[in-house]
Amino acid sequence: MTKQSERVKKAVEVAKKAHEGQFRKTGEPYIVHPLAVMKILEEWGMDEDTVIAGVLHDTVEDTDLTLNDIKKEFGESVAFLVDGVTKLSTARNGMREIDTYLPATKDNFLRLLIALGDDIRVLIIKLADRLHNLRTLSALPPDKQRKIAKESLEVFAPLADRLNMGRLRVEMADLAFKYVDPKRYDYLKDLIETHNKSAAKSLKKIEQEVSTALKKEKIKFEISGRVKSVYSLHKKLAKHNQNINEIYDLTALRVIVEDVTDCYLTLGVIHSLYTPMGGRIKDYIAMPKQNGYQSLHTTVITKDKHVVEFQIRTREMHEYAERGLAASFYYNEQKLTENYKKGKIEHLPTNLLWITELQMTAAKLREGKKVDLRKLKLNLFADKIFVYTPKGDIIDLPKGALPLDFAYRLHSEIGDHVIGVKINGKMSNLNKKLEQGDIVEILTSKNQTPKQSWLEKIKTSHARQKLLHRLNNKNS
Ligand code: MN
Repeated sequence: MTKQSERVKKAVEVAKKAHEGQFRKTGEPYIVHPLAVMKILEEWGMDEDTVIAGVLHDTVEDTDLTLNDIKKEFGESVAFLVDGVTKLSTARNGMREIDTYLPATKDNFLRLLIALGDDIRVLIIKLADRLHNLRTLSALPPDKQRKIAKESLEVFAPLADRLNMGRLRVEMADLAFKYVDPKRYDYLKDLIETHNKSAAKSLKKIEQEVSTALKKEKIKFEISGRVKSVYSLHKKLAKHNQNINEIYDLTALRVIVEDVTDCYLTLGVIHSLYTPMGGRIKDYIAMPKQNGYQSLHTTVITKDKHVVEFQIRTREMHEYAERGLAASFYYNEQKLTENYKKGKIEHLPTNLLWITELQMTAAKLREGKKVDLRKLKLNLFADKIFVYTPKGDIIDLPKGALPLDFAYRLHSEIGDHVIGVKINGKMSNLNKKLEQGDIVEILTSKNQTPKQSWLEKIKTSHARQKLLHRLNNKNS
């Protein structure tokens, strides 16, 4: 880590003075939190302005320090970042009283887009802030713990994934999952540990076989085991009907090599030693994931019938998979930060072009231009879509949700009496999948009653439960 500059030291002093006399729920002086956030940002290799904004991130909202003070002392850029973080929290205000971080109205959503689009480093600071809050969650009362943990799983960990910050995503998700479902967490953690223990011996042998073969080919490499995270196992099991035998990456080895050619050579070496499983070779080097993730994956069966996944990548790909966008700031610190400030973003990895879209959208919104939310391909919140009531309230639903899901989310009284739906002002039908940004108007009639056939026209378990409840009560 680089030595702290005079500017950073000065920022620490200013933050200490501003938060003087404030305390956290843990009983510690409040300054412990901003200092920890700053340290996280330093570890991620963020540029100096971001680090400084990190230690000052709570001052404008919670202390007498003003944005102007910050601008005078630390310059435009730092003030801009602190302002963005403050704005992010105001975009939350006026939320519905349900357990979600997502904005409740179109206006708030637009505010959120502007805050993020102005400078994506705002989001990185917010992620560091959330990570430290999660690490110190035990000091809060149980209901708060659950709320913050749930938000972190649903909103922040997916955002970390959008930025390809793999290490952060895993830490956040596992910390949060422990509070959301402690029993399940303990059960799965135990399962993974037991599995790892029983697989350790054969894994050592496989590691040795591969190492010997790679040395023979004069490929320079590092090989190590990768431990599956609890939350990702939980999600995978849900996808595979809880059948642990269908989880093929419980045991995985990671091989890091010098260049792309060696990645493919290594894949060949591994396939000459073991039998690859059909359909399980993935070339994310030629075809990176949306968030820019690159690696070769293959699952093989060894002579002793062990199933092992291999992940093969270069050092640079590895750094990027672990630290994502933050790694880009680190590697290209000067160039990227300078270009970034000037609004030139061609140095972002091409697979993070959604950030460009975010920036362009924010610029339009700031100029007061209209933005067609339906055309926004931004998929900030993973598998959720945002649709709107005619009044502009946001209802967040999973992808593939149907009008009845929307209706039951508004109110079961509305759900029970649906006779039709207008989507974006036009009559539509109950089988029509809702799309991001749709304006949905539910038509109801007092004489309507819930129908058995509606079960086919529902995607969310929330709506299904409500409908089933009604149907059962009607029959009894
Ligand atoms: Mn904070």
